[in-house]
Amino acid sequence: MTHVQPEVPAAIATVPGAVTDRAGARIVALDCYDVRFPTSLQHDGSDAMNPDPDYSAAYAVLRTDAPGLEGHALCFTIGRGNEVMVAAIAALRHHIVGRNVADVSADLGGLSAAMIGDSQLRWLGPEKGVMHMAIGAVVNAAWDLAAKVAGKPVWRLLADLTPEQVVGLVDFRYLDDALTPAEALEILRAAQPGKAARIAELERSGYPAYTTTPGWIGYSDEKLTELSRQAVADGFTQIKLKVGADTADDVRRMTLAREAVGPGIRIAVDANQRWGIAEATAAIAALAPWQPYWVEEPTSPDEILGLAKIRAAIAPAKVAVGEHVANRVIFKQLLQAQAADVLTIDACRVAGVNENLAILLLAAKFGVAVCPHAGGVGLCEMVQHLAMFDFVGVSGPRADRVLEYVDHLHEHFTDPVRVTGGRYLAPSAPGFSATLRQQSLRDYEFPHGAVWQRLPGHFDNPSKAPVTAAPIVQQGQ
Ligand SMILES: [Mg+2]
Repeated sequence: MTHVQPEVPAAIATVPGAVTDRAGARIVALDCYDVRFPTSLQHDGSDAMNPDPDYSAAYAVLRTDAPGLEGHALCFTIGRGNEVMVAAIAALRHHIVGRNVADVSADLGGLSAAMIGDSQLRWLGPEKGVMHMAIGAVVNAAWDLAAKVAGKPVWRLLADLTPEQVVGLVDFRYLDDALTPAEALEILRAAQPGKAARIAELERSGYPAYTTTPGWIGYSDEKLTELSRQAVADGFTQIKLKVGADTADDVRRMTLAREAVGPGIRIAVDANQRWGIAEATAAIAALAPWQPYWVEEPTSPDEILGLAKIRAAIAPAKVAVGEHVANRVIFKQLLQAQAADVLTIDACRVAGVNENLAILLLAAKFGVAVCPHAGGVGLCEMVQHLAMFDFVGVSGPRADRVLEYVDHLHEHFTDPVRVTGGRYLAPSAPGFSATLRQQSLRDYEFPHGAVWQRLPGHFDNPSKAPVTAAPIVQQGQ
């Protein structure tokens, strides 16, 4: 086991401003909820691979014996199968229920390593898929709890750790041929000068965002054009279009979007894994006259060598990948194979904050930009903390970093993201911003919530547009 213990084990529990009486609390329950939103009814979130997503959350709540102190996080899914994720989170109860909040907060790397190292559960991965994402939910809920006890948002809690403490949170197993703990320490120490100024800048003017709101594949041409114009008016300098169902449609939609936003705005495209390698290269070549800035998930996220081939063929367009990359090992190999220009990490895909710290450090080692994936439900709320820590404490003042924004479902959170003038404002409330409103939990819990009582049979029929089918017919609004 190469997990490194934190140099100062009690550091998180004793940071200045910690509410020490809450740190004495004990975790008494890990409750899991199946929460689903019927987004498929409006085609919100539709893409070439996922034509009818119902954005869903397997919502984890760490309850303590201190009044009002809870840790919250979620796994994002798109509907059917959310109950499987809920069951996977529940299977981790024995790792955390009964433990002292201060002890858990002081060794979040140890919590992560213990769950990843649970040999019986590990059989279900290893370190990939449902079980790994469930571990991510529990790790993230523990970070939420630790941050609430410390009285800080997660990004700031991370920023206030020493480089040694951050290195102590990372599991370097399988990584050290590309990144050693000593190299990670060097990267973090190199980011120390100017950190206070970057924190001040972040608190003053936020973090740059781009928007995917105009580009869902199920939206009509009129809606695409109108929302693209609106995005520019709202201050965004990059938008993203979903592509990959049909090249002629992609060219038409790209033309409309380019006309709507003008030449100075970046347009990224996202094929959501739809293409094979040769198919990807040809389809991207057809879009080249309209200058796609990056091409996201042109093929399978496991296709490391294929992504490298695509990248070589489509330059200067960039390859972006990450939201479905299962773990830090695949990220390492993508970097070693020069298969990606942009890593689109996700707060809820890998095993939580700790594994994402490893990925941020790997990206910094290889000089590759991290532009996190967000959207869904709660993903913007959570991943903003990782992007902001990357800026403040890891990658430093690098250009071309931008964080995805989608304007859906934020109203269900007690501390929703604030995006204005094309920038995320830094969250200031303690925690990970993943707490759902009680009324939303009641209304959207599946299958008993009021919303689902009105939609009987919604999940009974399989998708009418299976992912293996020929071009999806665009469905206008
Ligand atoms: Mg994507």
